[in-house]
Amino acid sequence: MNQTQHVLIIEDEPKIARILADFLHIEGFKTQMLDDGLHAIEVIKRDNPDFIILDLMLPNKDGLTICKEVRQFSHVPILMLTARVDEIDRLMGLGFGADDYVCKPFSAREVVARVKAVLRRTQLPPSTKQEKTLSYQHIELHLERFQCLVNQQPVELTPVEFRLLHALVNKPGVVLSRDKLMHSCYEDGRIVSYRTIDSHMKNLRNKLAASLSDKELLHSVYGIGYKIE
Ligand code: CA
Repeated sequence: MNQTQHVLIIEDEPKIARILADFLHIEGFKTQMLDDGLHAIEVIKRDNPDFIILDLMLPNKDGLTICKEVRQFSHVPILMLTARVDEIDRLMGLGFGADDYVCKPFSAREVVARVKAVLRRTQLPPSTKQEKTLSYQHIELHLERFQCLVNQQPVELTPVEFRLLHALVNKPGVVLSRDKLMHSCYEDGRIVSYRTIDSHMKNLRNKLAASLSDKELLHSVYGIGYKIE
């Protein structure tokens, strides 16, 4: 098994932070709490947590800003807490780079299950020690570091975008349905709307297009899904 994993909880409501910490302790996680957004980035850089639970509304610096800033330097999994269920699709569409979203009020048990699911899908088993890479044309994926290079230049992808691209690069020229892509990026078997897959694909295409100005590699196939070619 893994050594103790360190979860940073950034949440200004002490009761919520406390109950999350209690449930995480039961499951063997180590936790740290922060009730303010101001120094979040400093703390994350200093303590290098394995997972971050991040509330959207925080004093001094909000969760979205923190999430965007973290993604400049780290792929640490982030689970975002929001107070409105209708906000989740919108946030996903904006591509801030969170790995999962949970709406308040929630059951702490559910949140801990999500934390474990995200960790399972973002961590590769320890047996795959050598760096595995996969490439297609000018795209190179470093599977362990979750790093994407286009024309040798790093392109910052969210974990979901990375897994979508991984699935497509694995089968160049083959059209993958949205269902298939959904299973590739959510190993916990979660069902999301096709719209959610489409918005992740849109973000992915925009990011790749910025580095591949001459050529569009990702194609949507009307009524079916997507392919890389
Ligand atoms: Ca709050």
